[in-house]
Amino acid sequence: MTHDLHGRTQRLELSDQSLRDFEAVVLDATPEGVVLSRSAFYPGGGGQPADQGVLIWQGVETRIVGARKGDDLYLIPAEGDPVPPVGTVVTAAVADERRSALMRTHSGLHVLCGVVFRDYGCLVTGGNMDELTARMDFNLPEVPPGFKEAVEDACNAEVVADRRIDVRVLPREEAFQIPDIIRTATNLVPETVQDVRVVDIVGLDTQADGGTHVASTKQIGHIKVAKVESKGRGFRRLRIQISG
Ligand SMILES: [Zn+2]
Repeated sequence: MTHDLHGRTQRLELSDQSLRDFEAVVLDATPEGVVLSRSAFYPGGGGQPADQGVLIWQGVETRIVGARKGDDLYLIPAEGDPVPPVGTVVTAAVADERRSALMRTHSGLHVLCGVVFRDYGCLVTGGNMDELTARMDFNLPEVPPGFKEAVEDACNAEVVADRRIDVRVLPREEAFQIPDIIRTATNLVPETVQDVRVVDIVGLDTQADGGTHVASTKQIGHIKVAKVESKGRGFRRLRIQISG
């Protein structure tokens, strides 16, 4: 499980996306960041924002307002909250409503990505998400008539089909033999990365991805394509909203 290590922290959320509560030992603690021996807080990346939550220790609560990856994985305490001393055993909880919404949103974006690639052959040039709302940019020179409605219908057909969403870790060479695994216009996986985490919406979309996802497309809920915007020559921005 060494590929789940960031700095000194074992990242639990990469192999168990449903995990919200865990225990850990404090390895480092400053007002800028708390480093735990293990953590299920998603530190942000790939367009998915960092988790929030709490650490409970000796009857004290430290609110966690974010996380970031540096030399270690740092959990960012709320300003003014007491910080647990090094060596303390803490019980941690990831804010479930936010994370679950972000998982649905992230999986929804992959459905969108898969549909637009399959039906229009477009690659992703950028994207971002918040809870139940997201945007994704594609290299799409012309917008065909009825594009917005057709994409929305196709996305929701994939939701109704309830496709499994599998996560696996493959050696770099094996991962890159999967056709179309890099769906972005540029390869974002650094050369030094030996193990590639692959998120597979079975039968629709396979991507190298470090984010957290729901277990099947039905768990996403309804996908609304709210807007198609022009972002300069050849680029379109699609905004989606998740509900239900
Ligand atoms: Zn992703």
